[in-house]
Amino acid sequence: MSLLVVGSVAFDAVETPFGKRERMLGGSATHFSLSASFFTDVRVVGVVGADFGQEQLDVFARHEVDTGDLERVPDGDTFFWRGRYDYDLNTAHTLDTQLNVFADFKPKLSDASRQSRFVFLGNIQPDLQREVRAQVAGAELVALDTMNYWINTVPDSVMQTIGGVHIVIINDAEARQLSGEPNLIRAARKILDAGPQALVIKRGEHGAALFTRESYFAIPAYPLESVFDPTGAGDTFAGGFMGYLASHETIDDAAMRRAMIYGSVMASFNVEEFGTERVDRLTHEEINERFRMFKRMTHFEEIPFERAVRASK
Ligand code: AMP
Repeated sequence: MSLLVVGSVAFDAVETPFGKRERMLGGSATHFSLSASFFTDVRVVGVVGADFGQEQLDVFARHEVDTGDLERVPDGDTFFWRGRYDYDLNTAHTLDTQLNVFADFKPKLSDASRQSRFVFLGNIQPDLQREVRAQVAGAELVALDTMNYWINTVPDSVMQTIGGVHIVIINDAEARQLSGEPNLIRAARKILDAGPQALVIKRGEHGAALFTRESYFAIPAYPLESVFDPTGAGDTFAGGFMGYLASHETIDDAAMRRAMIYGSVMASFNVEEFGTERVDRLTHEEINERFRMFKRMTHFEEIPFERAVRASK
C-alpha cells in the first residue's frame, strides 16, 4: 500500500560529543522514507536545489523510494540545518536553519500521489502541510510531525493543521510547548481535544507513549550502549510506525501497538551512526531480532496479588 510523505529533504551539519559531520543527507522526509521503505512503497514530495546530486538520489533509489514528486530547483540551494547535541542527546540545539528552496515551495502532487491511502506530513512549514493535506482529501490515515521551530513562530497554523489529521507524532517537549501544559497526560488530552484520534509522544531514551481518548500504551526505548547521532530518530520512528500501518488492511489497537514497537526498533538503529548511514544498510533479520527483543523486554506474567504474596508471607 503506498505511503506518501511530504517534508524536508536536507543537508545537515551535526555535532555530537562523539563526532561531527559538516554535510550529510538529512531532512524529515529523507529519514522517514528510508525507514518506511522497509515496510511498504513510499513516495516522497519535497524540493531540493542544484547542489543535490546523484549520490543523494542513489540513497532513495537503493530503497526504491519514488522521487518522482521531488522537485528540483536548478538555481537554488537545498534546505540546510545545523544542529548540536550535548551529552543529553535528547535535546537538539538548532544553530542554523536555511530554508533556501523551501521558502517558495508549492507542493504539487502527481495523480498517483493524490490517491495515497496513507500520508505523513513531515516536519515542514505547517501551511505547506495543509496544502498537501488538501490534495489528499480521500486519504484513510494522515499523520503529522512538527517541531519547536514552527510551534514558536506560527503556533496557530500548527494547531490548525493538527485539527485536520488522524495522528500526531511529536516529542514530549513539543507536546508541552504546543499545549502549554507541563503535565504530559494533560498535554495529551488537550492535543487530542484539537481533533486527532491518536497522539504518539516520543521521549527519546525514555521510550514512547500512545494516547487515544480510550487508551494508553507506553514502551521503553531499546537499551543501547552507544548512541552517536539522534538526528532523524523522530522521523525514523514515524517511518517505522506509519510504514507498518500502511502494510496492513485493518488498523486496530493491536496494530497500533505493534507499530509503536516497529517505530522504536527503526529509531534504535538510526541513532547508532550518523545521518542515514545505519538505516541505509539495515537488514530484515536485524529488524526482526530487535522486534523479538522488545517482546521479551516488556513481557510479564499477570498473577493475582494473593498468589504473588503467598511465598513471602
Ligand atoms: P528529527 O527526526 O526530529 O531528529 O529531525 C531531524 C531532521 O529535521 C534533520 O535531518 C533536519 O534536516 C530536519 N529539520 C530541522 N529543522 C527543520 C525545520 N525547521 N523544518 C524542516 N525540517 C527540519
